[in-house]
Amino acid sequence: MGEQRLSGRVAIVTGSSRGIGLAVARRLADEGAAVVVNYVAREAEADAAVAGIVLAGGRAVALQADVSRGSDVATMVQSTLDHFGRIDILVNNAGIMITKSLMETDEDDWDRTIDVNLKGAYLCSKAVAPVMVAQGGGTIINISSNSGLYHPSAMRFTEYVVSKAGMNGLTKAMALALGPQVRVNAICPGWIRTDMMEDIDPEVHQRILEETALARWGTPGDVAASAAFLASDDAAFITGELLIVAGGRGMH
Ligand code: NAP
Repeated sequence: MGEQRLSGRVAIVTGSSRGIGLAVARRLADEGAAVVVNYVAREAEADAAVAGIVLAGGRAVALQADVSRGSDVATMVQSTLDHFGRIDILVNNAGIMITKSLMETDEDDWDRTIDVNLKGAYLCSKAVAPVMVAQGGGTIINISSNSGLYHPSAMRFTEYVVSKAGMNGLTKAMALALGPQVRVNAICPGWIRTDMMEDIDPEVHQRILEETALARWGTPGDVAASAAFLASDDAAFITGELLIVAGGRGMH
């Protein structure tokens, strides 16, 4: 087990059956938090994530919920309270990216992306906020994207960029609305190697590496380390901020 900055805390990490969310769930558990591993479809992966955390000495449970559906979110939050009795940390990580250009996309692509990436974060945050306020404190971390921050040179997926720009605004609005009890921050990752990036053209990969000062892909662990920091009391005076974890990509 690593440093126990999060002992006694309870975390929900949406979309933590795979990729960045999985690394965040493992890291929070490693630092002492009991973790809800949320997934939408891949039950076997979520069960494996829980088994790995338990094997490492942590506490975790897998809960299925589509974050874009308010009724699913309400059930997930109630089940979390039934299992662990409180909620200290919410990581809004569940997300999708549809790799079509603007003119190839249709209304359903727009709706689905905005519903999962943006409305999902809104629904989950609204559902946990009263619990956190009643407890006297808590923290929300939105996994946004640096594509929502600046002209997206290689990220031409319009509705995805819009969803992440919206998430950045949501972060600041919620930090104001939920202070002083609840801190709300976002992480804007750059290029992280996960399933989500499988469909991206290799030429785009190369171009992005050339734009990245540290000249490598990020890892899910790079994002997880920042999430653990923002979740901990080391970030006690930080709220409403966007932390870019992108190896120096997009400075210009
Ligand atoms: P990923 O490997 O594709 O994993 C996506 C996760 O989200 C899975 O656990 C999936 O569950 C879950 N999910 C999808 N739709 C959901 C829904 N409606 N309700 C609940 N869970 C849902 O993605 P990733 O690359 O780790 O990305 C995680 C987050 O980081 C996303 O918000 C993404 O936009 C953001 N991000 C990624 C990068 C990158 O380069 N990879 C860069 C910047 C930001 P199932 O396993 O059940 O399908």
